[in-house]
Amino acid sequence: MQTEFVYETLPNRVVFGEGKLETLGEEVERLGGKRALVLSTPQQEDWARSICDSLKDRGAGVFSQATMHTPVSVTELAMEKVRETGADVVIGLGGGSTIGLGKAIAVRTGLPQIAVPTTYAGSEMTPILGQTENGIKTTMKKPVIQPRTVIYDVNLTLTLPVGLSATSGLNAMAHAVEALYAQDRNPVISLIAEDGIRAFAQSLPGVIQNPKDKAARAQAQYGAWLCGICLGSAGMALHHKLCHVLGGSFDMPHAETHAVMLPHTAAYNEPAAQEAMERARRALGTEHVGLGLWELAQRVQAPMSLKELGLPESAIEKATEIALKNPYWNPRPLEADGLRALLRRAWAGEPPQA
Ligand code: NAD
Repeated sequence: MQTEFVYETLPNRVVFGEGKLETLGEEVERLGGKRALVLSTPQQEDWARSICDSLKDRGAGVFSQATMHTPVSVTELAMEKVRETGADVVIGLGGGSTIGLGKAIAVRTGLPQIAVPTTYAGSEMTPILGQTENGIKTTMKKPVIQPRTVIYDVNLTLTLPVGLSATSGLNAMAHAVEALYAQDRNPVISLIAEDGIRAFAQSLPGVIQNPKDKAARAQAQYGAWLCGICLGSAGMALHHKLCHVLGGSFDMPHAETHAVMLPHTAAYNEPAAQEAMERARRALGTEHVGLGLWELAQRVQAPMSLKELGLPESAIEKATEIALKNPYWNPRPLEADGLRALLRRAWAGEPPQA
């Protein structure tokens, strides 16, 4: 049992349940909002428009150009829309990309945000914002970035494509796995992490088999909430750093890269975090976390190799170098041979090894 820790809660309001999108107007009002700007990607613009219409005179407009990695150039366009509409609340309807744009507006204006997540990425539960400018991604953490209200409505996830459901789910599980062995872990977050991993292990196969299965989808969304709390509350280690290197320096896709890497990073860290990983073993019903995650990824037809995501073999050496350049805390010390071997297996799609 962990006997020393610090536990801090992040204040926000979570409204969870089928059909809860209908309470959006009340939630805007609860925040004192009179003019809400709805954000989305171009793909989800129709939803954003109908949600804005449903808010009647509290709907100020739609900005539908949210895109991956929150480019500052897009945020500047959105800021013009904020000024033009006189918005006093922003609503981010979508995945991590759209919610990221809401956060970028909040950090510039202090406006309260409502997040309505439609993937499992978990950004809605964190005070973290990653933005890109001139090809460089920087991350900041501030209380104002955390959405004040989050509405989880299962109906908004039924159209999430099967492939993205699998990779987004594994991406979320990575937050919980790393929270279990985080340097600043605590018993409450460990409980949340275990149940988050369990929720996805139980629901993802059903979601992939029948994407309209509301019970499985709701359990996955519950998992996303719990795993999002983990990301917002505990420091991340090797897994998130390696994915950051692969995304930032090699332009690898976010959720897919997390999905491929997770079994390998978990297997690397498990020997150094046996006690903490007991919760993950229990949640997955497996003797080895890495292998259990690898089998789950296969079952849900997630991509299994960095090669199939388009990473050239030559990147293995470079990624190892970059990952070692800025040392950071990890339960198992980082060493070049081990990292290179991990990346090689992930690149080739081989089973994970400690
Ligand atoms: P995304 O937001 O980029 O969405 C991917 C695509 O799926 C988009 O075209 C979107 O419109 C579409 N989509 C989303 N939900 C859908 C649905 N229900 N039905 C149909 N299509 C749908 O993907 P993501 O994986 O959620 O987010 C990735 C981004 O979020 C990355 O930039 C990542 O860095 C960021 N992120 C940030 C944090 C944080 O705490 N700051 C946490 C997790 C992820």
